[in-house]
Amino acid sequence: MDEFELIRRFFVRPPGDGVLIGIGDDGAVLSPSPGRVLVSVVDTMVEGVHWPASLPPADVGWRAVAVNVSDVAAMGGRPRWMTLALTLATADEAWLDAFARGLFEAADRYATALVGGDVTRGREIVASVQVTGEVEPDRILRRSGAAAGQGIYVTGAPGEAAGGLELLRDATLGAGDAERARLVARFARPDVRAELALAIAPLAAAAIDVSDGLFADAGKLLAASGCGGRIEVTALPRSPALERVFGTEAAARLTLAGGDDYELCFTADRDRETAIRDVAARHGVAMTRIGEVTGGDRLVLTREGSEIAFQDPGYRHF
Ligand code: ADP
Ligand code: MG
Repeated sequence: MDEFELIRRFFVRPPGDGVLIGIGDDGAVLSPSPGRVLVSVVDTMVEGVHWPASLPPADVGWRAVAVNVSDVAAMGGRPRWMTLALTLATADEAWLDAFARGLFEAADRYATALVGGDVTRGREIVASVQVTGEVEPDRILRRSGAAAGQGIYVTGAPGEAAGGLELLRDATLGAGDAERARLVARFARPDVRAELALAIAPLAAAAIDVSDGLFADAGKLLAASGCGGRIEVTALPRSPALERVFGTEAAARLTLAGGDDYELCFTADRDRETAIRDVAARHGVAMTRIGEVTGGDRLVLTREGSEIAFQDPGYRHF
């Protein structure tokens, strides 16, 4: 199987909306909706760095798309098109078949068409997906919009994905089947906040997706806004599955510092609270106010209002 047959067999699908020229030419030609501007994101995933080799290839395909959709959503955008640059050690058909299945499941779930890519041979598996989305210019969500007095919110239960990754890596960790399934799925198949982010965009002042850890990513948002903040440890969302497997204390640490959740963290004026709760309820997504934006330039962790020590730089490659 040469690379052209590989592309045809595993990656060519009927073109999506707005695709004037798709796979097969030197480049894709895309037609954005009138009045929208484009959001462009890319995320590379490397086997052994971003996922353990034991992760099923269908999940690798899903994650490669979902993590990018999460970035587009955190900008207030709607994903439309993507390209895929894939590096493989061998053209393993079973692997490719499963990878493509997971990739297209996510493509369908988030209405994002594959319009091009590249295939190369290399030492290890690397999947790099680039997504282009659209946003109305006055609905763009940035990290830099936070202001003192606003609430800090997060969706879902961060930490569950990091817990799931621990379970994948360490088979000796004791966990019931239901907890194991829930936590591993949060890592393997993150269902990112694509629709919720669009509904929150008119209400939020600043947003970031939580990929490197809640405390670190909230800190990045506040730094971009030139603000400080307080996160109250007793207000954090709690995951019964995480607490049962890891214990309360380790669970809280995973919630603050675990990565790979792809939840949405945002700030909003306090008079938006009711509207925010309505949006969360309508989308069936848990939403928790975990703290508030303050003056200064430090994000601190508090317990019942008093500062407690916490250090976490977030995930760093180098
Ligand atoms: P070029 O040599 O011009 O870069 P290629 O021969 O690498 O083009 O690719 C041929 C066509 O197949 C291009 O349209 C490219 O976008 C598409 N393509 C290549 N790899 C992939 C892939 N993994 N998924 C989807 N489309 C791909
Ligand atoms: Mg070319």
